[in-house]
Amino acid sequence: MSTSLIAMGVALFLIINLVVGLAALSLLFGTFETLFGKPKLTILRSTKSGNYFAFGFKWNSSKEPASIDQVTIRLFNPFGKPTQVEVSKNFEAKTSSFATDVEMGPGFLELLGAEKFDLATLQVVVQSSKSGISWQFDMKGPKFRKLVSEAKLTVDQFIGDYKMDSSTESKPPIDIPMRSFIADTVPGKGAQIAIPTNPAFAAHFAGMGGGGASASATAGAAATAENYKIAKVWIEPGCIVCNACEDIYKDVFEVKADTCIIRPNAPLDDGLRIQEAAEACPVEVIKYTKAS
Ligand code: SF4
Repeated sequence: MSTSLIAMGVALFLIINLVVGLAALSLLFGTFETLFGKPKLTILRSTKSGNYFAFGFKWNSSKEPASIDQVTIRLFNPFGKPTQVEVSKNFEAKTSSFATDVEMGPGFLELLGAEKFDLATLQVVVQSSKSGISWQFDMKGPKFRKLVSEAKLTVDQFIGDYKMDSSTESKPPIDIPMRSFIADTVPGKGAQIAIPTNPAFAAHFAGMGGGGASASATAGAAATAENYKIAKVWIEPGCIVCNACEDIYKDVFEVKADTCIIRPNAPLDDGLRIQEAAEACPVEVIKYTKAS
């Protein structure tokens, strides 16, 4: 075999190796990009009560520069009621991966409590309101509820885990005091919530024949219904720790970090009040049976 044939064989071998190597590298980086380069939404556990939605968002900001300042949650609920709910909130703009806790307003609880939520589809949109850049994450209602109710990481833990700059954490646009969802009065300015549990409205509800706020959170209902005893009350999976039940009847309901429990030896003789808590539960996980 001549020397030139051997040289050609070696050159061909090297070229094939080079092509195969480049293809392998390209595949590897393509897979890496697909697996780790896609924007990722992580639903987090909000440490605040009521209407807060906590989430983390990671994206490649050097490849896709954007100033993210808005989150929208849409519920498409063709078989239930309401058929569509959309809540949208702005927050302090972020230019790199971040985590934040956003007060979504009362529409968020309406959305979670929609009839036939389990048949609905839900969409979370993270976007830049100025440039129109947006990322959309679709899921079924039950999956969203599960992610919200079973989220373990808080905003602080997520920021710590991903070594994000803590200065990227936004402050909520409104600072709502803890446990103000149902029972507390609105502080300052003399504004009050007109509900049976608010002592300021005792006279009003007493006038309806229900006995006023000091007697029971079920004053209005008591005007038309006789109280009754409960045989058993329990919480099914799916609690979103909104605190509504505890605000209504703290002797019975205790809201923990990730769910609500029934207190040991809870009094079960005020059925109307337990019923009120069950009806206030936005995700309808409070169940009870009446004593016969
Ligand atoms: S049981 Fe219902 S009302 Fe009570 S904290 Fe959980 S979601 Fe809220």
